[in-house]
Amino acid sequence: MALNLIMLGPPGAGKGTQAERFAAAKGIPKISTGDILREAVHTGTELGRRAKAIMERGELVSDEIVIGIVRERLDRDDVKAGFILDGFPRTVPQAKALDAIMAGRDPLIVLNIDVAHDVLVRRLTTRLICQDCGTNALVEDAAAGAGSRCRKCGGPMVQRADDNAAVVLERLKTYQRDTKPLVEFYGARPTYRSVNGAQAPDTVTAELEAAVAALGAMSKGAASGARA
Ligand code: ADP
Ligand code: ZN
Repeated sequence: MALNLIMLGPPGAGKGTQAERFAAAKGIPKISTGDILREAVHTGTELGRRAKAIMERGELVSDEIVIGIVRERLDRDDVKAGFILDGFPRTVPQAKALDAIMAGRDPLIVLNIDVAHDVLVRRLTTRLICQDCGTNALVEDAAAGAGSRCRKCGGPMVQRADDNAAVVLERLKTYQRDTKPLVEFYGARPTYRSVNGAQAPDTVTAELEAAVAALGAMSKGAASGARA
């Protein structure tokens, strides 16, 4: 059974960090629409040119564009054993498009990371990322400030273009309006789980892993029940 995961939650909830851990632990690709778009902006492709100003304002790139990106990505062979989506879907139309893409595949497991507004503002406006590989600074390294070096690749640690206070508030507003409704959209599904993201990253990882393991055991139980 393929491990098809999506990671929901507000900006700053820790989706990227947790998605990366899952991908490494399970050997499945992490697909982050934010990373794909930032990469396109960085290399100056047509997509990047269209997305840059929108991202700098903290608004959402059009559903049409990101759905196209994800549809193409989920067509590749390396997602056969599963994948983890980070930052997609972000709107109800994107979620509906994903359901259509997933038709005939193993069910989606939907993981939500829940964090209060004031905690998010603090996290986002103080975080640093590596300019070269996008890795988030560890909490203890962020204290070293801008200009410190990435643990993974040695690149310079900088503030993300959209992590300044004004844009952070805009992104949180966008989340409330466009993305929060997904909790309602997915909440009733038997494969939906939500964890408290205002805990140590390792605790969040442990709770997410426990949730996925429990769902896996449930689906195996259901499968053997069907055979009996
Ligand atoms: P965040 O830290 O806000 O979760 P991401 O790295 O996921 O940031 O995304 C950064 C920006 O890229 C978003 O603010 C948005 O402009 C754009 N973006 C990423 N994913 C999507 C998506 N699924 N739909 C629309 N826009 C997106
Ligand atoms: Zn790096």
